[in-house]
Amino acid sequence: MLIVSEEVCQKVIGRADAFEAVEQVFAAMARGDAYNFPVIREAIGHADALYGFKSGFDRAGLALGLKSGGYWPGNMDKGLTNHQSTVFLFDPDTGKLHALVGGNYLTAVRTAAASSVSIAHLARKDSKVLGMVGAGHQAQFQLRAAAEQRDFEKVLAWNFHPDMLPKLGAVAAEIGLPFEAVEREQLGAEADAIITITSAHEALMMKDWVKPGTHIACMGTDTKGKQEVDPALIAAATVFTDEVAQSTTIGETQHAVASGLIAEKDITPIGDVINGKHPGRTSDDEITLFDGTGVGLQDLAVASVAARLAQQAGDAVVIDL
Ligand code: NAD
Repeated sequence: MLIVSEEVCQKVIGRADAFEAVEQVFAAMARGDAYNFPVIREAIGHADALYGFKSGFDRAGLALGLKSGGYWPGNMDKGLTNHQSTVFLFDPDTGKLHALVGGNYLTAVRTAAASSVSIAHLARKDSKVLGMVGAGHQAQFQLRAAAEQRDFEKVLAWNFHPDMLPKLGAVAAEIGLPFEAVEREQLGAEADAIITITSAHEALMMKDWVKPGTHIACMGTDTKGKQEVDPALIAAATVFTDEVAQSTTIGETQHAVASGLIAEKDITPIGDVINGKHPGRTSDDEITLFDGTGVGLQDLAVASVAARLAQQAGDAVVIDL
């Protein structure tokens, strides 16, 4: 059995590995070769924590297992990040535990890979301006990954807590992109691709602010009640997601579906685009929207790659169970 620490994950897995793993697993999900099991998420009545697990099986990539963890709001005071997770991988031939992999860094990398895959397949090729709505922990990973998908010339950003913006600006500076903090209306009017990655519970981007031809990746909404964009924007867009069932229940489309603006049939798994079954964007005026809800199979995909690379590099701890 392998143990792969957070530190080793950071050493062995990069954005290109994560992109490939996530693209492949989205494709496998759309073909029916991989499926997620029902998600468990519980307020455990201790330390104010939300705990749960996401699990699944990818028959094509042979990844079986679960990501276990959640949100402990008091962790910051203990010098730990509030989100904590660990991935357990099992041998699909025997059920034996194969690897224990730190899941915190991998969560950020696989979430950034998801919006990147959507930009790669759906954003206009001539996209020049990247808009960031959100400036927290995930936003930094999102920005780095998105910047590799198109020849962006500048980054416009807005955040509910403006004091968090300089940290995101520092990431933009590191990758050589001019960075400007703007109001949301300006961000919508100028950006060709937008990523929303906040913990908001109300629409932050309105339909009338977003220009034709924009691609928007909504990445923050992963729970019932959260929301980042105007349901009318969803109704006006061609909508893609990682998993339709999750999108309509805990993802960004939950509000547009609940109010009858769109139905499940209006949402396409992005894997269909990757597999060539759906054309994706069909015009330069079309607004495309990706609802990245975050599925367990993404975690298993990147953790499998991390376990393999760590073992090859001799960086995994090997123990007999
Ligand atoms: P964080 O705590 O580091 O940052 C939170 C962000 O949300 C900040 O930009 C903050 O200013 C903003 N925010 C907080 N309250 C707000 C409000 N009322 N209105 C608007 N913005 C507000 O968190 P993070 O780790 O960067 O995560 C951001 C979001 O992404 C969370 O909702 C998290 O659950 C979600 N997430 C999704 C996935 C996925 O796969 N889709 C994966 C990881 C995290």
